Amino acid sequence: MGSEGPSKRPFCNHCSKPLRTCLCSRFTSPPIDNSIAITVLQHNLEKRHPLNSIRIAKLGLRNLSIIPISDVNLRSSLLIRPLDPKHLDFGDLGECRAEEQGEKCRIRWHDECISIGVDRGAKPNMKSVLASPIGKAAISNGFAAKKIQTKQTRRGSSDETEDVEEYEIVIPAGTALLYPGDGAMALEAVDFEVKHLIVLDGTWGKARRMYCENPWLQLMPRLRLDWKSESLYSEVRHEPKAGCLSTIESIMCALKTLQGGEEVKLDELLMLFESMVGDQRRLKDEKFKRMASKP
Ligand SMILES: [Zn+2]
Repeated sequence: MGSEGPSKRPFCNHCSKPLRTCLCSRFTSPPIDNSIAITVLQHNLEKRHPLNSIRIAKLGLRNLSIIPISDVNLRSSLLIRPLDPKHLDFGDLGECRAEEQGEKCRIRWHDECISIGVDRGAKPNMKSVLASPIGKAAISNGFAAKKIQTKQTRRGSSDETEDVEEYEIVIPAGTALLYPGDGAMALEAVDFEVKHLIVLDGTWGKARRMYCENPWLQLMPRLRLDWKSESLYSEVRHEPKAGCLSTIESIMCALKTLQGGEEVKLDELLMLFESMVGDQRRLKDEKFKRMASKP
């Protein structure tokens, strides 16, 4: 509210922190050339969170991209296209087959792609896609995924819908998803070369929703961290479970285990994150003291 509101404060364009807590001068080394590319699917509510850790990962890792994701509030459609469809054998699938997965999800097979209609609240199951020739081609040779969101907009007194492309992403072979759950493999047990890592950035509830509403995520191996330490920011940011790491802590842990090398530089980024958390804790204390000292 008033002049203290986040929109009125001067912000640093580079690290997107308020100028008085700008992080830029704390980066002492050039960005790390991470050989495992990182793509962060970032929930759109996460970007402006003062403690969001991806701002540090973005400045500290050369090979990192961010795709903003919003919730499906009406419906969306997803197109999955294998990058190398040459060896597709359709067998008896025919050219087009629709599969009903309840009212909220529709999977349809086409010549060289699959389209999936995902409504709000849908929980698609991609098992049949994984077992299909298109699914197998997508997994072994990579695929492109495009998401179109149908959004409701209010024009004058009437509601209209509008189709908006949210993203188109190319997923090369050798991509894995860092997300715990059934069938997830421990990082230490990975026995294939991970070239590209997808990470979900949001609260646990939002991450779960992103996983459901972007079902191409089910087409890749899932990796999990074995929690050993308490998150650096568990004191300042409420997380539903103890031992949940922030997104940057998860990325650093995965890079250390899978990529090896650059350990000192990776630790430097974690220290930067720690200093950002420290700033937040200090500001919170100061605010509390100010409030307490008011008559
Ligand atoms: Zn800055």
